[in-house]
Amino acid sequence: MIDSHCHLTDPYYGGGEDIIKNMAADGLEALVTVGYDARTSAECARLAANDGVYATVGLHPGEIKEGDDLGGILPLLRLPKVVALGEIGLDYHWYDVPREVQKKYFEMQLEAACEYRKPVVIHSRDCDGDMLPILKNWAKRLPAGLVMHCFSSSAELAKEYVRLGFYISFAGPVTFKNAKRGDAIRAVPDELLLAETDSPYLTPVPHRGEKNRPSNVRYVIEKLALERGTDFAAVERITTENAKRFYGIK
Ligand SMILES: [Zn+2]
Repeated sequence: MIDSHCHLTDPYYGGGEDIIKNMAADGLEALVTVGYDARTSAECARLAANDGVYATVGLHPGEIKEGDDLGGILPLLRLPKVVALGEIGLDYHWYDVPREVQKKYFEMQLEAACEYRKPVVIHSRDCDGDMLPILKNWAKRLPAGLVMHCFSSSAELAKEYVRLGFYISFAGPVTFKNAKRGDAIRAVPDELLLAETDSPYLTPVPHRGEKNRPSNVRYVIEKLALERGTDFAAVERITTENAKRFYGIK
């Protein structure tokens, strides 16, 4: 299995050493630890010195400080195990950062993805009306693909993104009791499907109430298999191959 999106820099993991040490025993072939500001991006890049650990770097919409020139983040994209730019995007739900400022930093970073020829990890929350037109505009220019991380919108929107050639990644919320995402899960073709935990957040059933960990990606894979009418091994194989292709993991 690969956890295609987690945050090993969270203080809960105390540096991430235990998670990394136990990866093989936990059935994890690789994991991608995702940065969201200059500090966590640099830390993710450092963690990627470990076997099987890969990093992304970027400025999350909730972490924007106006005037930031991204100088602490973008140069990290030259490191070999920094495999993507992200997570970046728009979030109109949780944060007070003005929408125009969010859009400015989002598009600055999409521009950087072109310059550095890296795939992009997208965070999108309560902003579908702005996100889709922006991404439609950029889809043809992006040199190395894009993933909608922790996808939780409709099947219709999933189909729009699939038409643009984007990957769709599902996380723990698909396992929640009142999840109504079966049709979105089925709207994604095999070759664009990814699984993630977004650890330490969004702990899947049956571990609600605990902190999440990358090995819990198995419960997401299990649910994807159930909704797609196939078995765990098939979805494990597909999501592993896709994560390797998307992130350029050997
Ligand atoms: Zn995340």
